[in-house]
Amino acid sequence: MTDFFPYSRQAIDEEDIAAVVSVLKSDYLTQGPAVEAFEKALSEYAGACYAVVFSSGTAALHAAYFAAGLGQADEMITSPITFAATSNAALMLGIKPVFVDVEGDTGNIDLGLAGPAVKPKTKAVVPVHYAGHPADMDGIRDIARKHGLIVIEDACHAIGAQYSGRKIGGLSDITVFSFHPVKPITTGEGGAALTNDRGIYRRLKQFRTHGITREDFVNESHGDWYYEMQFLGNNYRMTDIQAALGTSQLKKLDAFTRRRRYIAERYSLAFKDNPYFDLPPERGYAYSSYHLYPVRLKDGYKDKRRAIFTQMRKAGLGVQVHYIPVYLQPYYQKLGYERGLCPIAEDFYQREISIPIYPAMGDGEINSVVTRIFEVFKHL
Ligand SMILES: *Cc1c(COP(=O)(O)O)cnc(C)c1O
Repeated sequence: MTDFFPYSRQAIDEEDIAAVVSVLKSDYLTQGPAVEAFEKALSEYAGACYAVVFSSGTAALHAAYFAAGLGQADEMITSPITFAATSNAALMLGIKPVFVDVEGDTGNIDLGLAGPAVKPKTKAVVPVHYAGHPADMDGIRDIARKHGLIVIEDACHAIGAQYSGRKIGGLSDITVFSFHPVKPITTGEGGAALTNDRGIYRRLKQFRTHGITREDFVNESHGDWYYEMQFLGNNYRMTDIQAALGTSQLKKLDAFTRRRRYIAERYSLAFKDNPYFDLPPERGYAYSSYHLYPVRLKDGYKDKRRAIFTQMRKAGLGVQVHYIPVYLQPYYQKLGYERGLCPIAEDFYQREISIPIYPAMGDGEINSVVTRIFEVFKHL
């Protein structure tokens, strides 16, 4: 039993360690068979035709926007309640992120506002499955169909989650996962982009290695050594060391998700009808992966968030706030995004605290977190 509870963390076992060690003893540390094996396992797991793994979720997002054909002066609609990477990766390609306000309870993009936000320059809609709770994908598909938009899911929280009984990963043009240690499964750093479209798949792969290809040449081949760089890409490759860890982790993902959901269930019982904060909802279509357990302070506690947060940290609770609305960051303010743009998101930010949830939490630890949280509020 530990005395510090992070808001999320990895679960690594001996099998994971053995998988990594076996790659270290093999011929290929990178660009070897472990990467392809992980990609195959990922696409099979999520029910997508293709998966391409990357050095991070951010790299996968960057590649996804590129592969979808987005570029300079295009606009994409997304949520401000996300990590900066979602829109940063767009800025890297000269795409303008248009932030649409969120639902006050799920923290996901509000579809009633997303439709009217579509303009002639809008090329894509990028929902973020906040905390692992899927956005309303049927609603998003309707908007996308009506306006001819590409759908790219930022599912960095949501591998293992389901929408209407279908796993997140094969539902849209592109779905992006992250394998940072706080995410549902980890490769240390890492990410993936999944698609059912062969053309997108090939651009994703080519973008990962400097836009270089060894097939479908523009010019005539000079010989067996010949390759072509056809567009400006990057070195966004994942190593085989990481991929082996990923394949091993993926085998445990469903068990991890079930444990996170069990913890969430325990919390919703323990905190039922409490006077201090509201609990994360789960819509009828959602099977959340509970990457986070975000609570929202009620009126009367919202303005005490800073003290509550500090006291929770002092009590050994590794709480975090997800997220400062991206457009409030100084860089985005300099670009001209104004405070007040998404009032629900700003209110959500002022109320939100993510409390500990991760697969290795035992029942005693769950109880201990609950007790400590009530103690903090009692002594405010
Ligand atoms: C973690 C995360 C990312 C970026 O993933 P990295 O692997 O850290 O680069 C992007 N979007 C969201 C919502 C995330 O939580």
